[in-house]
Amino acid sequence: MERLSRRKVLALGAAGAAIATTAANAASFGNPDRPAEGAVNANPAGLTDTGPKNPTLANQFPSFESPPPTDVGEMQLFWSSFNNAPKRIQNGGWARQVTKSDFAISDAVSGVNMRLGPGGVREMHWHRAAEWAVMTNGRCRVTVLDAKGRAYVQDVGAGDLWYFPAGFPHSLQGLGPEGCEFVIVFDEGDQSEYGTLLLTDWLAHTPPELLAKNFGMPADAFKSIPLNDLWIFQGREPGPLSADQASVASAGLPEHPFTFRLGASKPIKENASGMLQMADSSTFKVSKTIAAAIETIQPGAVREMHWHPNADEWQYWLQGQGRMTVFDAGPRSQTADFHAGDIGYVKKSQGHIIENTGKSDLKFVAVFKVAEYQEVGLTSWLSHTPPSLVAQHLNMELGDIERIPRDQPGIMPG
Ligand code: MN
Ligand code: MN
Repeated sequence: MERLSRRKVLALGAAGAAIATTAANAASFGNPDRPAEGAVNANPAGLTDTGPKNPTLANQFPSFESPPPTDVGEMQLFWSSFNNAPKRIQNGGWARQVTKSDFAISDAVSGVNMRLGPGGVREMHWHRAAEWAVMTNGRCRVTVLDAKGRAYVQDVGAGDLWYFPAGFPHSLQGLGPEGCEFVIVFDEGDQSEYGTLLLTDWLAHTPPELLAKNFGMPADAFKSIPLNDLWIFQGREPGPLSADQASVASAGLPEHPFTFRLGASKPIKENASGMLQMADSSTFKVSKTIAAAIETIQPGAVREMHWHPNADEWQYWLQGQGRMTVFDAGPRSQTADFHAGDIGYVKKSQGHIIENTGKSDLKFVAVFKVAEYQEVGLTSWLSHTPPSLVAQHLNMELGDIERIPRDQPGIMPG
């Protein structure tokens, strides 16, 4: 069905004749309080776009090229991507990032996409922000030490999460045969993966005689430490997990695990159109500043209109393609297209709807800088407000109001 065909039908009906896409029917479409927008309201002669363009790039953004006529007002850009972020490649792996300085709307969190080959090590380090991550490929061994001196070592695979509280020191290493790839979200918009406190940096910038006193051993022991940091380096693949765990077990285990199997968790919503899997501090206890959901939407289906009262939403698009429209006061409404590897962002309490526009499952991970996941669904609100009151607002039949789903399905069929 052609987009907005229902509006078109209504407008044509109102006009009483088949006045096609001309400015004559403008008032019938969208934006009644402003000059009508959108190609459907325009003289086709004004729609041509003959200017210089990069077709490969332009074709990725049909909703920017020709926004739906219901889009209105200015809105901060909520599309970004790892696809065009420069990689820092070192022996052992690579990383690229999108921080607030690359993506202005993203002031709550920043994102890093990293790959470590088999044996590749992300150097032992720590940083100001807390670190949440989702594994997208392969296997990785993580190590972390808590503030009570208790160590945690674990192997993670695709769909698994880790969370390191702010300042807790940690390392990451790709395991054979494929290594690993993952996306990190820091709970500060300006935290950079290139601005972390590195083990090698500290030692190289402490006088050897002070190192000798600190560790209670001869300065000579430090004669071969690297003078440049490692950041990512090619290491030897580690031995069995149990051996690494046993080697650090002296102080006992931390109270709660620093990893969580989100991809294998029971969905909080599931129907024929898709599913939502969720992890916040109620299930992933250590994750006190980040809640997250993996959302799977079948072709043609939509993630229903909703908002989040307590946090911005940062999205990493894992597979498939889709279109998201974000709504704000003003009114403001804007639509953008997303593909795998892209990043979306929705400010706290802004309404949004996501449609799978592809032929395969759409999957993205939504990340919120908050302890407890919260969502308000439009169907839930309208089905839990006295029906006659809703009917008066929307000028709809009472019988139709009563057909609105009452159980907040999360995903609706196409
Ligand atoms: Mn880190
Ligand atoms: Mn959402």
